[in-house]
Amino acid sequence: MKGFFNQFSRRKFILTVGLSASAVLLKGCLGNPPENLSNGGGTTQAAVKQVANISPEQTPETTTVKLGYIPIVEAAPLIIAKEKGFFAKYGMSNVDLSKQASWGSARDNVEIGAAGGGIDGGQWQMPMPHLISEGLITKGNQKIPMYVLCQLITHGNGIAIASKHQGKGVSLQLAGAKSLFKELKSSTPFTAAFTFPHVNQDLWIRYWLAAGGIDPDVDVKLLTVPSAQTVANMKTGTMDAFSTGDPWPYRLVNEKIGYVAALTAEIWKNHPEEYLAMRSDWVDKHPKATKAILKGIMEAQQWLDNFDNRKEAAQILAGRNYFNLPSADILAEPFQGKYDMGDGRKIDDKSMAAYYWKDGKGSVSYPYKSHDLWFITESVRWGFLPKDYIANNATKAKELINKVNREDIWKEAAKEAGIAAADIPTSTSRGVEEFFDGTKFDPEKPEEYLKSLKIKKVSF
Ligand code: CA
Repeated sequence: MKGFFNQFSRRKFILTVGLSASAVLLKGCLGNPPENLSNGGGTTQAAVKQVANISPEQTPETTTVKLGYIPIVEAAPLIIAKEKGFFAKYGMSNVDLSKQASWGSARDNVEIGAAGGGIDGGQWQMPMPHLISEGLITKGNQKIPMYVLCQLITHGNGIAIASKHQGKGVSLQLAGAKSLFKELKSSTPFTAAFTFPHVNQDLWIRYWLAAGGIDPDVDVKLLTVPSAQTVANMKTGTMDAFSTGDPWPYRLVNEKIGYVAALTAEIWKNHPEEYLAMRSDWVDKHPKATKAILKGIMEAQQWLDNFDNRKEAAQILAGRNYFNLPSADILAEPFQGKYDMGDGRKIDDKSMAAYYWKDGKGSVSYPYKSHDLWFITESVRWGFLPKDYIANNATKAKELINKVNREDIWKEAAKEAGIAAADIPTSTSRGVEEFFDGTKFDPEKPEEYLKSLKIKKVSF
């Protein structure tokens, strides 16, 4: 066990010299984004000047990459890096951000890669990169090796409940709602939706229900609904709850269809959320371009964490080319930690806002291996992954994490970007994590965590 979280992986990139033939082909296939971006203007004068200053050792092998995103606040570092010229500043002048209709589409598109009309990587819920790498959610169980390169965000997600359940105890603590769930179970079970099975949103709903004594596999009905359909489904009364990223929970409150029972920031303060991950073949072929992408994202994350920039960020994200929201206010208020929960509860606390670079526990951007391990452990808890990933000192989980998590590339990029040593974590473990119900996850003892949980599908 010891050594896993403190080792410094020194796997070397496969170096490619110059612009390869496939990169030229790639560029030819991509074409232009469907719409010209009207907000922000992309490359600034300062960025153009900076490009000339990139040293030959850091000049990317290609200026072109295609990254997928889902229109929720998790995507902000990608969009800001493009719109504020941070990608261009490090030489990535042709980053194509491709809006994905659903997580399933993102998965399908990364399977074929940009060369086949898909994407090279992008924004992911966890542990999608691990599941894709293992061939567990791909067509024909084909293994598509991926690398996790940085975390994009913490917080910014919530669990929304249909208005008809107002005042019945369906809140962060569920002690007062047990009889309601029991009553519904005998007629039409409480139905909760997430945007893709077995990943973040599914895991947040399950954690919250189980902490309140509700068994997600027995007492409720869980299903997959794309974010954009959640409002419609809740309006028609076919859905009682859903979990997704901002602005969706807040839109429900604004449209008076529902309320927010819990922010994920309340379930697990400073929790891991979504990540940047890319096909490993793209990264291995373009090590300098990968670090240039990371440097652009790191700069965007720091820019986003300056709350003075958040009004502008909300305007850029709400724009027609990105989230296409009726008003930027839907994003601007949560960005300041202001949440009207819709049940009379109002949160005005900056520590509950989304963070992109640093939070109350340290680095947000750095991909801690201990967080990958929590996602794998939680997947074992619900039977999504076999028990042997965690049994025997989590050897199988760690082997997978060591293949997929490339925190070493993050560190190299951070050093090249001149990030202060104090902002570069020295351990791959963030240490013991604590949840709202008092449960603790010690990444050195994932089996003990599973043993301590009352409601689970796996026996430990
Ligand atoms: Ca999310």
